[in-house]
Amino acid sequence: MTRPGAASDLGVGKVIFEHIYPATGKPNGTVTLAGAAEIDRAVEAARAAQGEWISMTVDRRRDLMIDLADIVHDHLDELARLNVFDYGVPISFAGTALLLERFLRHFAGYADKPHGVSTPVNGSFDVNLIEREPYGIIGVITPWNGALAVAASCVAPALAAGNAVILKPSELAPFAALRFGELCDRAGLPTGLVSVAPADAEGGDALVRHPGIGKIAFTGGGATARKVLAAAAANLTPVVTELGGKSANIIFDDADLDLAATLSAHQGPLMQSGQSCACASRILVQEAVYDAFVDKFVGVVAGARVGDPMDPATTFGPVISQAAADRILDTIETAVSNGTGQLLLGGNRIGGDLADGYYIEPTVFGGVDNASTLAQEETFGPVVSVMRFRDEQEAVQIANSTRYGLNAFVQTTDLGRAHRVARRLEAGSVWINQFSDISPQGPYGGYKQSGSGRTGGVEGLNEFRQVKNIRIGMR
Ligand code: NAD
Repeated sequence: MTRPGAASDLGVGKVIFEHIYPATGKPNGTVTLAGAAEIDRAVEAARAAQGEWISMTVDRRRDLMIDLADIVHDHLDELARLNVFDYGVPISFAGTALLLERFLRHFAGYADKPHGVSTPVNGSFDVNLIEREPYGIIGVITPWNGALAVAASCVAPALAAGNAVILKPSELAPFAALRFGELCDRAGLPTGLVSVAPADAEGGDALVRHPGIGKIAFTGGGATARKVLAAAAANLTPVVTELGGKSANIIFDDADLDLAATLSAHQGPLMQSGQSCACASRILVQEAVYDAFVDKFVGVVAGARVGDPMDPATTFGPVISQAAADRILDTIETAVSNGTGQLLLGGNRIGGDLADGYYIEPTVFGGVDNASTLAQEETFGPVVSVMRFRDEQEAVQIANSTRYGLNAFVQTTDLGRAHRVARRLEAGSVWINQFSDISPQGPYGGYKQSGSGRTGGVEGLNEFRQVKNIRIGMR
């Protein structure tokens, strides 16, 4: 027996979850969630598959990863549509399958490259080898807003490093990830090298606690990360985390204001309806251009095309669930009743033809105090705060006054200022006159409570390799 949006135990160790399409509030399909028994089987299969994977020559592994990238390429449209069904992201924005293809091609190139070095040692002529080896099986836990993006940033490097992967998408967004699992089989990867196990918190916990897991790559919220780290402690399993953000977007008075307004809108409330770790939810504007910027910015945001996520013209879709809609509306109401700032745009649930879906108007507050809850807590919805600053010093001080440190954005035409400010910002990525355009060359990740470790680049690859030192005595 199932009920909308809920998981129910069928009494045979299997849990069927009824997925709700956020754009209509109607059932979309059912998914069998993995529990401890399924995780056990996935680990067993992964162990055998990893042995097979690591005994292949490096060029064979490289070619299989390229074959997988080719198959993903052939299914880009299908994966994009599945992403839409997963979480109602507008198809105009559902580009994470392309990201997956790019990461697979990039990291395939690492598979056959040298990974170790040999060095001299003090006091002898011994041979000292420093090698990098896989952990074995990586448990990859994804948030609902990015199963394919996380498959890109974690599965691709984990495979290139010689690991097997158990990919656990959220029960709220399982479809594209499940299809990716099928494509891995079709590409000819050893069976079980990539297992996709959609699960809720219970299945996720079973994965984290499994003694056969070599490392966990967790992407999600800080509260869940604390539970994952505590559970992983039982086996001292290492965990790399990619967490939330409250990113600052600093608009200096020399910025191209039209570009800054467009960028701030699409990096802010319009980006997956603000449901992105990279959402620039705090917009800091230099006093002299505050009014001019706000006019332009509110104009761009108000011009968003709200509608059916499958319509290529739509630029603004629903939030993930009824619970998320309630939480976001509560955040807005609290900010209004506390006098946190001026409500410049939005603030309501969208009705009419879209009333059954979970649509919240893109919402802009002006004159917000950075110390307020609105400015400090991750809303994960289409709500942004605009605030004023006087000079560089104050901009940096406000931007850094948060427990998060994922992204920061700077809009300026002054090259010296761009460098000066970027160096002082406490964030893993700083984007100057640019969107958060994640690339396989990365690295991407957080300072402070936005996470540990990096995805992308050689730093991202090294998250999935452990170092071994071999010393050969020369006598
Ligand atoms: P969440 O923390 O609720 O869930 C993340 C994943 O953890 C899901 O798959 C969930 O099923 C699983 N999970 C829940 N409880 C668990 C447990 N006890 N043990 C193991 N797994 C468990 O996050 P969400 O709502 O899915 O995603 C939104 C959050 O993710 C936001 O905070 C967002 O900023 C963050 N995020 C970060 C990045 C990044 O790269 N830094 C990218 C996307 C999303």
